[in-house]
Amino acid sequence: MSILDDRPGLKAEIEKVAEVAGYLWQKGWAERNGGNITVNVTRFVDDTMRAMPAISEPRPIGKTLPDLAGCWFYCKGTGKRMRDLAREPMANGSIIRITPDCAHYEIVADSPVSPTSELPSHLAVHGYLLAKGSPYRASLHTHPIELVALTHSPKWMEKDAATRMLWSMIPETKAFCPRGLGMVPYMLPSSVELADATIKAIDEDYDVVMWEKHGVFAVDTDIMDAFDQVDVLNKAAQIYISAKNMGFEPEGMTDAQMHELSTVFGLPK
Ligand SMILES: [Zn+2]
Repeated sequence: MSILDDRPGLKAEIEKVAEVAGYLWQKGWAERNGGNITVNVTRFVDDTMRAMPAISEPRPIGKTLPDLAGCWFYCKGTGKRMRDLAREPMANGSIIRITPDCAHYEIVADSPVSPTSELPSHLAVHGYLLAKGSPYRASLHTHPIELVALTHSPKWMEKDAATRMLWSMIPETKAFCPRGLGMVPYMLPSSVELADATIKAIDEDYDVVMWEKHGVFAVDTDIMDAFDQVDVLNKAAQIYISAKNMGFEPEGMTDAQMHELSTVFGLPK
């Protein structure tokens, strides 16, 4: 028995998470237990689910997040591997609900898999998105090789330097990652400072935020779309590196060509 039985909407959402987890492993972006996924699944929760007893004690989030009242999340489990989650999402992650005090969560299904240690920062981002009225319900943290490599040069850490270069590699990059890549300087993984800086970068109108010498944090309507934004950006980084490997600096599309794209396709930047 699984909480996904007879809940096709919820099941489809979790299957997307599993599919994306498989891609992260295949791309080499999810070594060991690297990376995290959390998805706000509240819209798929019915009255029967709401009446279910928890299978864990209430545990402190570490923050009080009033915007998450009544919310439910699917979370990757702490120490779990993306490649295992791809096959068995409910054995390598769990569904949690936020308790009425908005300061604790409890696990409801299917196994008492403790959520990622990054839960407080992921939940803070979800709370921020809800407060803003955003339709975004999924957050993804992963280690895309070429994008992380870029952040080892101060040149690419300057605001919008990487965005401009990546957008100029092929037109689709700007079309499908239209807000570009926000940059956050190195901070300790899992720290409150990193979570706060990530929210600040999202608030500055980025969907994908780069953590220097670490990885990306992406938000979108669902996990597949969040993955796609990171995928198109990393593809652009690979094209840049391929040109460099051929011994030349890639020309890149011109400012006029990129401006034309924004006008014709109604892009935000
Ligand atoms: Zn990481």
